[in-house]
Amino acid sequence: MDKRAIVLLSGGLDSATTAAIALHQGFELCALSVDYGQRHRFELDSAHRVAESLGVRKHVVQKIDLSLFGGSALTSDIDVPKGRSEEEISSGIPITYVPARNTVFLALALAYAESVHATDIFIGVNAVDYSGYPDCREEYVRAFESMANLATKRGVEGTTPYKIHTPLIDWSKSQIIRRGTELGVDYGLTHTCYDPDEQGVSCGQCDACQLRLQGFQEAGIADPVAYQS
Ligand SMILES: [Zn+2]
Repeated sequence: MDKRAIVLLSGGLDSATTAAIALHQGFELCALSVDYGQRHRFELDSAHRVAESLGVRKHVVQKIDLSLFGGSALTSDIDVPKGRSEEEISSGIPITYVPARNTVFLALALAYAESVHATDIFIGVNAVDYSGYPDCREEYVRAFESMANLATKRGVEGTTPYKIHTPLIDWSKSQIIRRGTELGVDYGLTHTCYDPDEQGVSCGQCDACQLRLQGFQEAGIADPVAYQS
C-alpha cells in the first residue's frame, strides 16, 4: 500500500498544518514549494524550516516565475492593502490574488505526484477565513481532481485515482491553529505576512497578518512570530 503523498508547502500557517495532518494520517511526505517570483524570500525560508521541523521525506522547490505575468500585489510593485476591516477583507477578490496560482501549483504537484508514484496530494486551501479566492473553493478542488484523473497515465491506467486532500477547507483560522498546535506544529517557523520589512518582520496590518492574529486570539494561543510595532 503506497502511503506517499505530495504536500504543497508555502511556508505559511495553513500549509504547515496541512503537512502535519498528512503526516498524522500516516503519509510519507514529499513537500513541494514554488518559487513563483514572490516579492520577498521569507516565505520560502519558512518552507525550508517547516519541512525540516516536521520531518518530511523530501522537499523540493520548483522555480516558475509568475511575476512575468504581473497583475498581483504579491508579485508586482503594487501596494499591499493594509488595515482593511473584516468586511472589506471578506468581500471580493483582493489585489493579492495571484492569477490562477493554485491551478499552477496543483498542476506542478500532480506532475510531481505522478513521477514519484503518489496519488494523494494535500493542499491547505481554506474557504472560510480567506477572502473570495476562487481557487480555494471545494468545487474548484473537485474539478481539478476530476481533471487529474483524465490527464495522467496513472489516472487512466492505474487502479488508485488521484485524490486532492483539503483538510482545512471549512475550518476557521482558530480551528486550524488549535489542530496544528495539538499536532506539534511550531508556528514560530511559519511566515504569513504579505509585506514584511527587510528583516522579515511581519507588518501586522495586511489581510494575511490580520486573519492570522485574529485566529491566534480566538484560539487563545499566543502567536510566536514578531510583528512591527
Ligand atoms: Zn502583514
